[in-house]
Amino acid sequence: MKAWTVDTFIEAIMEVRKAQSDERLENTTARELYEAISAVVNQEISQNWSKTKESYARKKPKQIYYLSMEFLIGTLLKSNLLHHNLLDISNEAIMQLGFDPDEIYRQEHDPGLGNGGLGRLAACFLDSMASLRYPGHGYGIRYRYGLFEQRMINGYQTELPDYWLENPYPWETRKKEEAIEIAFGGEVHMHKRTNGKLEFTYTNTEKILAVPYDIPVVGYQNKVVNTLRLWSAEPTTTEDELKSEAYYYQLEHQHSFEQISGFLYPDDSSIEGKQLRLKQQYFLVAASLKNIIRDYKKTIRHSLKFLPEQVVIQINDTHPSLAIPELVRILVDEEGFGWNEAWRITTRVFAYTNHTIMSEALEKWPVDMIKKFLPRLYMIIEEINERFCQGIWFDHPELRGKIPDMAVIADNQIHMARLAIIGSFSVNGVAKLHTEILKTREMKDFCSLYPHRFNNKTNGISHRRWLVMINPRLSNLISETISPLWINRPRELTHLLRHTNEPSILEKLDQIKQQNKEELANFIHKLTGILVDEKSIFDVQIKRLHEYKRQLLNIFHVIYLYNELKDNPHLDITPRTFIFAAKAAPSYYFAKEVIKLINTVATVVNGDKSLQGKLKVVFLENYNVSLAEKIIPAADLSEQISTAGKEASGTGNMKMMMNGALTIGTLDGANIEIKNLINRSNIFIFGLKAEEVYDYYHNGEYRANEVYQNDERIHQILDQLKDGLVGNQEFKDICFHILSTNDPYFTLKDFDAYVETQQLVDQAYRNRKKWLAKSLINIAHSGKFSSDHTIQEYATGIWKIKKM
Ligand SMILES: *Cc1c(COP(=O)(O)O)cnc(C)c1O
Repeated sequence: MKAWTVDTFIEAIMEVRKAQSDERLENTTARELYEAISAVVNQEISQNWSKTKESYARKKPKQIYYLSMEFLIGTLLKSNLLHHNLLDISNEAIMQLGFDPDEIYRQEHDPGLGNGGLGRLAACFLDSMASLRYPGHGYGIRYRYGLFEQRMINGYQTELPDYWLENPYPWETRKKEEAIEIAFGGEVHMHKRTNGKLEFTYTNTEKILAVPYDIPVVGYQNKVVNTLRLWSAEPTTTEDELKSEAYYYQLEHQHSFEQISGFLYPDDSSIEGKQLRLKQQYFLVAASLKNIIRDYKKTIRHSLKFLPEQVVIQINDTHPSLAIPELVRILVDEEGFGWNEAWRITTRVFAYTNHTIMSEALEKWPVDMIKKFLPRLYMIIEEINERFCQGIWFDHPELRGKIPDMAVIADNQIHMARLAIIGSFSVNGVAKLHTEILKTREMKDFCSLYPHRFNNKTNGISHRRWLVMINPRLSNLISETISPLWINRPRELTHLLRHTNEPSILEKLDQIKQQNKEELANFIHKLTGILVDEKSIFDVQIKRLHEYKRQLLNIFHVIYLYNELKDNPHLDITPRTFIFAAKAAPSYYFAKEVIKLINTVATVVNGDKSLQGKLKVVFLENYNVSLAEKIIPAADLSEQISTAGKEASGTGNMKMMMNGALTIGTLDGANIEIKNLINRSNIFIFGLKAEEVYDYYHNGEYRANEVYQNDERIHQILDQLKDGLVGNQEFKDICFHILSTNDPYFTLKDFDAYVETQQLVDQAYRNRKKWLAKSLINIAHSGKFSSDHTIQEYATGIWKIKKM
């Protein structure tokens, strides 16, 4: 690798430009410059990429494959530059060429190939695996349309298709020669061979081609480049090859199959009962497994008996859990293994991560649907189920009564989480509380059956993207203060703890946060026309819109403050800017109403001169990774206020903590672990605990209506929603929904504690020095939440793989 300078970097850009066109550089557009820089970076990547592949082929390490229906990778030019230690040089080169670096990096369309936390986690994991030199790769789907683009019209969410491939995507390489054929449907035939073995053949299946597109996953300044392989569905025959008589029929048919990689289901944590979604899952699983086995055979040249020594497959939630029966199918039908041997191999290959305990999000598929599209897989699932139930009946009589709650096939449905647990050697939750709930409640019976399978791996985030890349000022301050070694060993951020009383450091931290807030304020102004007070508390809640995440509680607090200020304009409160960003699933009516409510409150509050600028409310549209990267460095207060027991982990909480925001939150998900690290005095905890929530569900002693009757503040707010007193828009549905369902997320119940805790925040913010010290303590402990730490735990605790 050559040592780059700004001059040689510019030269390389010129070379690429010359090769692409003979136009002179003066006529270069921002888009062209983006493409040229990407091409230069790709040249750097490609050598390391081949070398990494070569070294895996030579050394034959055990490899980990991360199967996920979602990868929310964010834009890659900046992070690839950073990982090649070229970001500063590139910034300088861009400026010398007369452009603003941000304008160039903005050219990249952020691929929305995921819904939220689960997809972003997969991307952070790939980053950490490459940066820690683990041989680990991702398999996913190359959706032609990512998660919808959200536009606000009159305060309502509208959804536009996200065609992210409009311009060529510079980071992918199509590998047509490595395409894999997948079969759906058809009929299964059973033959008895002369040796007594059963043989299964299929007829009338429908075939589709899975064509890989590879994206490099660049390790941090270590020359490792792993692969994210995304499958695209294509017809098995080209249009030319189609016979003319059947042309139109076949064309239509093929187009219907191409839809398999047509779009990402825009649902977050609740299951879409769509046939297409099932086909997508099988498509991912079948293509990836064939690919893994093909590679295994090429490099290992041994019987598949030894597969578990060479391959571990992590399945990200149950979405890819059809991989379990699919591997059994391959081993039995194609490789000639007997059932017991096939099952032994399979259950030593798979590890399953559970991401949710919300029952509506636990995947189930109708038996008829699986039978129709995947007839052979259905037979295998039946066999797995049969053997599992028999095993309980004979070997665990104490669990006999639980069989209906544990069987893979029950009530005419296939229960995917049960299949995943039974077919994996490891089942992990994503934060301590979450795993505890799995073990003692949701999956209690399975845990008593397989106690050693259950383990916890608390989620994490890439500190490279979520601190070094998006907050260079803070990152530099940290490096100046404790040396830059923390970038390779994020736990060493704790060295900052020695500096929490140093006025000069705190002052710099203050300035940096202020600069970041000014930049966000400018961005908000450009985007929305709203002028916000740069000195106000930037109070941030950014995440998918869901009842359990309780954006409603946040906006109730805003309405409460508004009402207070209307009563008493001289009320002494610290000015606040409430910043929201959230997409709602298109079919989630209640969530969309909450978005409209936030926007309505924003209009009222922002337009009310009598508030003297003490409150502003901003809803930024189209929440995605790029927008998160803009907001997070400027956050003072991180809202993590889910109903206790509902948020499996959360990772937004970690991102904001790492950027010096203080958290106001419930004892839920990873908030608990944040609290235990930094101490209760450096976080604002409030509200019901998970145990209390469960008790209320159990004993039915909570009465939302009593809160409505007894708490004047709540009474007023709900009446305002009903009668349209906040703006002219009425929100009867929200009010009615909460009271008629007895407030299942305890928004009203937790309101009092929330308001009280927000008053503590208000007071704490006034003591600048103390606040900054708390902020630094948060940053200092955030290294524990680097996904490097998480991946280290997966590698030693589950995967048993070694660094290269
Ligand atoms: C981190 C992230 C999430 C997850 O946020 P939570 O607050 O943990 O729900 C969702 N979407 C995007 C774009 C993210 O970057």
